[in-house]
Amino acid sequence: MEENCIFCKIARGDISSATLYEDEDFRVILDLGPASKGHALILPKKHAANLFELPDETAQKALVLAKRIGGTLKEGLHADGLNLVQNNGAAAGQTVDHFHIHLIPRYQGDTVNVKWQPGELGEEDKEEILKLFR
Ligand code: 5GP
Ligand code: ZN
Repeated sequence: MEENCIFCKIARGDISSATLYEDEDFRVILDLGPASKGHALILPKKHAANLFELPDETAQKALVLAKRIGGTLKEGLHADGLNLVQNNGAAAGQTVDHFHIHLIPRYQGDTVNVKWQPGELGEEDKEEILKLFR
């Protein structure tokens, strides 16, 4: 628990939230500023600022939970698709420094924006990146 972390307080139940699911590791809540109908957030109860601080076991469980809750949202709300979004660092759009996964149901023709302009994979970049994994 981080003293000033809003998601710690929500995950622990100190601040009330529209909770879709809860177990000993997670709370899944509706986002207060939804991108679409059904936009939900998976919050681990134990504080981790981002993906890189999250224990492997929690990371594994989080994806299984995303599949399950995302599936219920998609089916129940008759959505046409679902985005999982998970931001790490301000540059990536993270505004709350407590790991979370966005579940964003998508509807044909909606105005949700999770797109980017495709660039081009340059040779230099490609070599530099491939080298990291050799
Ligand atoms: P981020 O930009 O960090 O990936 O996402 C933070 C998300 O948390 C945003 O979608 C924002 O609407 C949501 N959010 C911020 N504060 C609260 C809150 O107090 N309650 C709920 N339910 N959602 C929040
Ligand atoms: Zn926290």
